[in-house]
Formats: sequence, C-alpha cells, structure tokens
Amino acid sequence: ADPHHFAPDAATDLLEHLAAVAAICIDNSVNRARLRRDGLMDMLTQVANRRFFDRRLREEVSQWLRRGGELSCLLVDLDCFKQINDQHGHQAGDLVLQEAARALSEGLRASDVLARYGGEEFVLLLPDTGTRRAAEIAERLRAAVASLALTPTRGVSLRVTASFGLASLAADRRATLEDPGLWLLRQADRALYAAKARGRNCVVIADGSGTATTAPLAAAPVVPRER
Ligand code: GH3
Ligand code: MG
Ligand code: MG
Repeated sequence: ADPHHFAPDAATDLLEHLAAVAAICIDNSVNRARLRRDGLMDMLTQVANRRFFDRRLREEVSQWLRRGGELSCLLVDLDCFKQINDQHGHQAGDLVLQEAARALSEGLRASDVLARYGGEEFVLLLPDTGTRRAAEIAERLRAAVASLALTPTRGVSLRVTASFGLASLAADRRATLEDPGLWLLRQADRALYAAKARGRNCVVIADGSGTATTAPLAAAPVVPRER
C-alpha cells in the first residue's frame, strides 16, 4: 500500500532474513534426520544396525501374528574372518565387511531387512517368504559372497565365504509360540551353528524342532586365502 516502504537498496533485506531463518530450519531438519539415520545404521557397512533390526523384527512379528503368512530369517556369519584380519590387517577386514554387506544387499525387495547383527554377522528378515523361497535366496547370496573378488590392498587378492542359518515362521505356529521373534532368531542361530559344523560356506535350514538337521544346499568349505 505504501510505495515508499521498501527503499531500493533494502529490497533484498527481507529475503535475506527469510533465507537465514529458512537455512537454520533446513539445517535443523537435516541434522535431526542424520541423527535418526545414524542411530539406526551401521556406519562401516552402511546397512541397518542391530537396533533397527530389533525394531523391525517386532513389527514384522506382530504383522505375522495378525495376518499369518510366513516370515523367514537368515543369519549370516563370515567364515574364518579372523584369519583375514590376522593375515591382512583390520583395514582389509573392514573392506571385506563392506563388500560382503553390499553383496548381501543386492536384489532384495524393499520390504526385506538386512542388518549388521554384530561383528562379522549379518541378519536378513524376509517378510511373506517361506522356507523354500528363503533357501533359494540364501543360496544365491551365499554364491554372491563366495564369488567376490576382493583386493583390499594392491597386490593382495582374497576371497571370503559365509555360512547361513535359515529359519521360518509358518502361520500354523501362531498359536503355540510365546515369543516368535526370539524363537525365530534362536532357530536361525542353531542352523548357522550347524552350517559351521558342516564345514562352512553352506546354507542350513532349521527344522523347527530345535535342531537343525536339514542337509545344506551347497557344500565344500572354502578357506579365505591369498592368491
Ligand atoms: P568362524 O568361521 O567360525 O565364524 O570363524 P571367524 O574367524 O569368522 O570367527 P571369530 O568369532 O573367531 O572371529 C570374528 C572376528 O571378526 C574377530 C573380530 O576381530 C572380527 N571383527 C568383528 N568386527 C569387526 C570389524 O568391524 N572390523 C574388522 N576388521 N574385524 C571385525
Ligand atoms: Mg561370528
Ligand atoms: Mg565368522
């Protein structure tokens, strides 16, 4: 209403002030998002961390309790990983962890969860996936890890393998399990232990009775070595 209100040399003052306020707001939002992300992500491998996994497991189990269907879990442990650290150093070990995480994350559905469970262990949660399909996925991932050609430092070339323990929650278990999430993890852990005992670099499926006896889908242990 007042044509003299804005002096020509002060035309951008208001915009500058607005921009400064907006910049602070954006900065705040970015920092908050970063904090939230960092709290749920494993910084080394850039996959979700255990905290995120535990949360998603609770959510997926309550979905499964409501809707039924199947929910599968894969526990993955890199084989003889300590040797890699011992022979090539921790930096090489870190690179192997990063590459293994990348291999495990390829080809997953948006609803699948991959997390670093701790150390050199990863966990995958596959909603709406039964044992048979999960076993196919596990076998594909096992082959993907085993075929990684790793060169942590110049002149060094090494390979790594992983063992897989697979367990599934079928709809008919809903009435009988007190803590399905815990049960699922324990079963997968037992199956993983059996995979190690069978010679590593293989997938073992929990039979649901507390022991893991199903034959592995692939055999032949491969010990990481320098080429
Ligand atoms: P197995 O086949 O029985 O699983 O043998 P393994 O050597 O993989 O298992 P072990 O538990 O003896 O060793 C795991 C090693 O993983 C020991 C630990 O130092 C290493 N590790 C755990 N976290 C990290 C990490 O963030 N970076 C590196 N470089 N090493 C790690
Ligand atoms: Mg381990
Ligand atoms: Mg290991």
